[in-house]
Amino acid sequence: MLLELDHVSKIYGDLHAVDDLSLSVGEGEWLAIVGSSGSGKTTLMNIIGCMDTPSEGSVSLEGRQLNDLNAGQLADVRKNVIGLVFQKFYLVPHLTAVENVMVAQYYHSVVDEEQAMESLRNVGLEDRAHHLPGQLSGGEQQRVCIARALINCPKLILADEPTGNLDGANEKIVLDLFKQLHEQGTTIIVVTHDALVASCAQREIMLNHGVLVGEQWNDEDARRRYVEAGGKPGVAEAASMSDRVSDQEAAPSSDIPVGFADPTKAAKTDGASLPDDTGV
Ligand code: ADP
Ligand code: MG
Repeated sequence: MLLELDHVSKIYGDLHAVDDLSLSVGEGEWLAIVGSSGSGKTTLMNIIGCMDTPSEGSVSLEGRQLNDLNAGQLADVRKNVIGLVFQKFYLVPHLTAVENVMVAQYYHSVVDEEQAMESLRNVGLEDRAHHLPGQLSGGEQQRVCIARALINCPKLILADEPTGNLDGANEKIVLDLFKQLHEQGTTIIVVTHDALVASCAQREIMLNHGVLVGEQWNDEDARRRYVEAGGKPGVAEAASMSDRVSDQEAAPSSDIPVGFADPTKAAKTDGASLPDDTGV
């Protein structure tokens, strides 16, 4: 397994933002995390991305316990293993597209414009390289962010609502990029409110109040490989989301907020009416 979370909690006072969550993610897997807003998705991503530490439990990435690493070593993991894509673009407004990509190189102490151009070429933006973010559409800005995240060829892409601000056409461009990265062997974890984006992943897990309440595989071969590699079911009592959905049909329960059948379209609508809750 590339990533293993063992009984991870993040506790703020009385609030368990992430609550006793165990999860394994195999090398090369594409996982989607869904759940209504406030369910702990970003907190979980920050923990996986070495930007936050759990209050309880442990995380291991590439077989290394993150708890054992010091700040410098954690920064190295962030730099060398992980590529981050956010809903908000976080581009420097007075730098051009190619310069924004080079900012990521700067943190790797190698600034190489040709390599930055190559990364922009990979996302189809070579001809926009010398435009400022303000001169780019939302979709183009997100592609610059993806180019920036790809600069160090990360093993693991963490994307928190990457298409949250995009229209359908740009969402498709970003999804196609993810598909390409996945085919090249990159492990992808994407938080999304969008049923279509979630359905592109091989597996979806659902959080509710920080608890992992559901799991659904969309790709049976991937599920088999995961099990063969020793991956455990995400939900403790080994209930898959489809089991739960049929339970629900038999005896409707208010515990499960949103079903995978129409994962989180409703949540997306909620998100749209709450502009402050950007999901980042
Ligand atoms: P999501 O990304 O699913 O919308 P978050 O992970 O952002 O959810 O937040 C989960 C819960 O944790 C929310 O109730 C949020 O208010 C709370 N939370 C997140 N960060 C902090 C923090 N730094 N201090 C206190 N509460 C926090
Ligand atoms: Mg969030």
